[in-house]
Amino acid sequence: MDAAWLVPAALGFGLAVGIGGTSAVVAAHARGQRAAAVVTPTVPDGIEDVIDALDGVGIVLDASNNVMSCSAAAVTLGLVGNNRLVHTDLVALVDRVRHDGTAASEQLQLPRGPYGEARLHLLVRAAPIGSRFVLVLADDRTEAHRLEEVRRDFVANISHELKTPIGAVGLLAEAMASAADEPDAVRRFAGQLTTESERLRSLTHEIIELSRLQAADALEHADRVHVDVVVARALDANRVAAESHRISVVAQTDPTAVVWGDESMLATAVHNLVANAIQYSPDGTRVGVGVTRRDGAIEVAVTDQGVGIPESERDRVFERFFRIDSARSRQTGGTGLGLAIVKHVVQNHGGDVRVWSQQGRGSTFTIRLPEAAEAAASTRGARS
Ligand code: ADP
Repeated sequence: MDAAWLVPAALGFGLAVGIGGTSAVVAAHARGQRAAAVVTPTVPDGIEDVIDALDGVGIVLDASNNVMSCSAAAVTLGLVGNNRLVHTDLVALVDRVRHDGTAASEQLQLPRGPYGEARLHLLVRAAPIGSRFVLVLADDRTEAHRLEEVRRDFVANISHELKTPIGAVGLLAEAMASAADEPDAVRRFAGQLTTESERLRSLTHEIIELSRLQAADALEHADRVHVDVVVARALDANRVAAESHRISVVAQTDPTAVVWGDESMLATAVHNLVANAIQYSPDGTRVGVGVTRRDGAIEVAVTDQGVGIPESERDRVFERFFRIDSARSRQTGGTGLGLAIVKHVVQNHGGDVRVWSQQGRGSTFTIRLPEAAEAAASTRGARS
């Protein structure tokens, strides 16, 4: 071929290939768009707005179970991921509703996440919308379920705790009856009977106290409470115990520290902390109670030089009936309710309680309560 033709021919060929390729790509794109329009139908008008406004779980699914729209709760509770339903139980419910063409409700227990045992308790309702979509609504009942479990545990624990001293009283009474001719034995059994009845008394007292606290709102009829009076009451009630263990209790209070609340409840809380500080410390040591004002809060810290609390148990000591060394605690008359009462009192007053501890060196329990400001005092005073 003549070399003069070669260059224009090559140019022409390149142009033809370029145009052909581009139009193929454009055509494919247009086909894709058309296909997408067919495969991805839009959610009916207004549904998206309703889903957005939902506080709870709302999900709209298309015919292939793709999530077309969902509320924030559906994602945060882990029900939706990658635009699909995460749990097979939910998918099964949706499929059934789509197949039957009628709405259905179901109580479902679903794993809370990929790890661990925690479960979500949901009341789920699914309903078809038109011929293509299914709407899923769910009511999160996890918290209500947890509270019911706590209540059941509490009743079971109470029964268990009461069984031991009640059983002991029965056995001791029998032993006394059969040892009626031996005055020494009768005296010994009578002493043990007194111990068991004292245990029953303090257990029932604390159970009643805890139930009362759980029902009451300390801030509903709140008074201005001087924290130094609270501390003085708590120390007074522990004087005999401290003296019998040769434990010196040193208090550093602040007469200007005032909080809103119920003086008796607060005195019970500080009393329980001081009683524990004495109970879990060797004889001859010191217990300190300090009151400080800090950033609008009043802190009451109770420090001891006692046995301390292992790190693994620190969060659990506030649970009802929890005791690190049950045998020792029972011996000393512990019910495992003292710190649960502290926690409730403090929470009822809008505060919190935390613990610092080192095994073998001692512990510090710190109660923090919102300070009652002077200005607030006059407004509340005027209202009441
Ligand atoms: P208890 O009636 O058994 O004292 P509490 O609820 O008051 O029940 O305390 C729960 C557990 O926490 C106790 O059994 C004890 O093991 C531990 N504990 C509480 N206070 C202290 C403390 N100051 N030092 C060491 N251990 C403590």
